[in-house]
Amino acid sequence: MKRHPKEVERVTSEKSSKSRLSKHTKVGLVSACLVGVCCRYDGSERSSPLVLNLLKEGFFLLPLCPEQMGGLPTPRARNRLVGGDGGAVLDGRARVVDEGGNDNTKRFVEGAREVLKIAELFGARVAYLKAGSPSCGCDGEEGEGVTAALLRRKGIKVVGVE
Ligand code: SF4
Repeated sequence: MKRHPKEVERVTSEKSSKSRLSKHTKVGLVSACLVGVCCRYDGSERSSPLVLNLLKEGFFLLPLCPEQMGGLPTPRARNRLVGGDGGAVLDGRARVVDEGGNDNTKRFVEGAREVLKIAELFGARVAYLKAGSPSCGCDGEEGEGVTAALLRRKGIKVVGVE
C-alpha cells in the first residue's frame, strides 16, 4: 500500500527523534550559566568550554538555574551562606542572606528541590555545577551550595566547574 507523503514524513521524523534519543543516553544536569544562559546575579553568564565540549560529544545535559527556579529575579542581589554550608541550610542550621540583609533561605531550598525533581524525572546521575555559588558551588571557601548538597545527598554525582 502506498503511503501518503505526509505520513512518510511523520514516520521518518519519529524514527530520527528516536535515534537522537539513543545517542543521548548520558543524561545529566548543568548550571544554566555554564551553557550561556544569562542567569547569574548580575545578569551575566559563564560559558564553560569543558561543558560545551561535553554537549558536542553527545552528553544530554539539562540546563537549570536553582536561584531562578526558587523564585529569585535576575539581576538580583548577591547571596551568601551564613552559619554553615548548603547541607547545614537544608538541615535548618544555616541561612542564605543577600547583600541587603534579606533572608532568602526558603527560595534557595525551594530552588534546590525543583532541580532535584527534574533530576529524578530524567534519571540524571551527574550534575556539572558552577563552583563558588551558594546554590551550585561544591567546593571553594564558601563550601557546598544548597542545590549541590541536596543532589549529592540523593546520590547524584556533583562535578564542580570553574
Ligand atoms: S544559581 Fe547556579 S545556575 Fe543559577 S546563576 Fe548561580 S551558579 Fe549559575
